[in-house]
Amino acid sequence: MKGIPVSAGIAIAKAVVINEKHIQVPQRNIVDVQAEIRRFTQGVGQAKLQIIAIQKAALEETDHDRAAIFGAHLLMLEDPEFLKQIESKMREEKVNAEYALQMTVDSYMTAFQGIEDPYLRERSADLKDVSDRMLRILLCEEKVSGLSIHEDSIVVAHDLSPSDTAQLDRKYVMGFITELGGPTSHTAIIARTLDIPAVVGLPGVSDHIQNGDQVIIDGESGEVLLNPAPPIINEYRDKQRSFIKMKQDLLQLKDAPVESKDGRKIQLAVNIGHLNDIKLGLENGAAGIGLFRSEFLFMEQKGLPSEDLQFEAYRKALALMDGKPVIIRTLDIGGDKKLDYLPISQELNPFLGYRALRLCLDRQDIFKTQLRAILRASMAGNLKVMFPMVSGLEELRKARQIANEVQQELIAEGIDLNSNIEWGIMIEIPSAAVISDILAPEVDFFSLGTNDLIQYTLAVDRTNEKVAALYEPYHPAVLRLIKMVAQNAHQAGKWVGICGEMASDIQLLPVLIGLGLDELSVGPSAVLKVKKAIRSLDFQRAQIIAKEALQFKTAAEVKHYLTDQSNISEKGEFR
Ligand code: PEP
Ligand code: MG
Repeated sequence: MKGIPVSAGIAIAKAVVINEKHIQVPQRNIVDVQAEIRRFTQGVGQAKLQIIAIQKAALEETDHDRAAIFGAHLLMLEDPEFLKQIESKMREEKVNAEYALQMTVDSYMTAFQGIEDPYLRERSADLKDVSDRMLRILLCEEKVSGLSIHEDSIVVAHDLSPSDTAQLDRKYVMGFITELGGPTSHTAIIARTLDIPAVVGLPGVSDHIQNGDQVIIDGESGEVLLNPAPPIINEYRDKQRSFIKMKQDLLQLKDAPVESKDGRKIQLAVNIGHLNDIKLGLENGAAGIGLFRSEFLFMEQKGLPSEDLQFEAYRKALALMDGKPVIIRTLDIGGDKKLDYLPISQELNPFLGYRALRLCLDRQDIFKTQLRAILRASMAGNLKVMFPMVSGLEELRKARQIANEVQQELIAEGIDLNSNIEWGIMIEIPSAAVISDILAPEVDFFSLGTNDLIQYTLAVDRTNEKVAALYEPYHPAVLRLIKMVAQNAHQAGKWVGICGEMASDIQLLPVLIGLGLDELSVGPSAVLKVKKAIRSLDFQRAQIIAKEALQFKTAAEVKHYLTDQSNISEKGEFR
């Protein structure tokens, strides 16, 4: 099979299939029926609480239609006839709650199918929704044990949300294969951060591969081999060895300065999501943290993390980096990053919706708590803060105003704050790039979030494998925006970096450096590869390459030109 390669390396291990598409309902014989009925009743109570929370959130957003849908769900779980039927199945057939629920729901579904009335047919979708919620609650233990892995495994799934991956024991995860996703979906970014091979965009793969199958992933070509013959396994073990050797060789560069052959210095930093990633970054010689995706801290908790818990995490990050710059990005929830405990009502276009700074400006309680924690940690090191998803000046000013209020509060409380904190924004919405001349005077720095900038500029969902081929970092529109942002930053005397995944594309490096970017922030496993390439680059030549690359009319032409010009050796150096 061949999918979209998103994280390089070879993995050879047994598959663990997490198939969330169809919930597998086990049938068990029950001895203590009364206890089973109690378990069922508790499950109903839990489901009702979840539904009430979602309904409340919908009402707060004056989304009455959505609130009404959940009102109907609630009624189903309060319908005595429905509940009685399930209970009688448990009593009469001595079966487990999930199975009794499934059988009852199936019989309702069959009845619904014969109905002409579209309104009533719609209710079958609601019934399915309610029953899936109940099944997930009742099967909770099974699901968790499916996710908890005790031996080296390749995780195969329809989709893996960032919060799913946050629950996996990293020690045993050798690779990822998913049906959904694109090269900059957050699952792909996590795989690169963990430095494990991953292939996404393989429809049907979670049905095709069974638990325990032997699987090989080639994260460079996108190939996935199922139950390969021993000679093939040996061939891939050789490949795996040479890949590991190449990485070890790179380690010699850990302490080498990051500058071009003609002396242009670049700040080469690392992107992290988890405190553990800092170790990886430092081992690879990162000169700072260019992007701390603080939302992962929120995903690892069962509820909103307290100010103290956040403070401790930010303080640790700053202390571990020991005076090197640490850019903490404020919460970026929404899009493909969800929090179970902070339900966001269903949106048709979540990437265009209630996300990141928009959510924070609306939920100032969450925002202020985070800002307090970040600022309190500021004495521990070299702190910079940036806001994600800024689309215009009002949002930037609003965010800064709230940060100022928090700062004043802390000063009034007698808390010492670092007086050299820099404040920046991500440039990841095209509108911000276009008005970067207006934004630049009001910030200390820009960081180009090209993962989003590309998706918004080209209108290509970064997580949708069906349009992954259209997701094009080499698109002239993207390159023009980067050029514009770099120029506007420098004109205002501000520095500009890039923390999107395109910063680790060696082929594009001469363009990014040639356009004058001051900082590159990449995943931990890419730091040394990028360092090696920068050290073999000639800045003056890069400026010419950047200028010429921007003359082309299509992404294909740009790519062709860069392949020709860059002339990258097998060792990853410019010739
Ligand atoms: C980006 O959008 O480029 C970025 C770095 O942020 P994230 O990938 O977390 O959206
Ligand atoms: Mg982004």
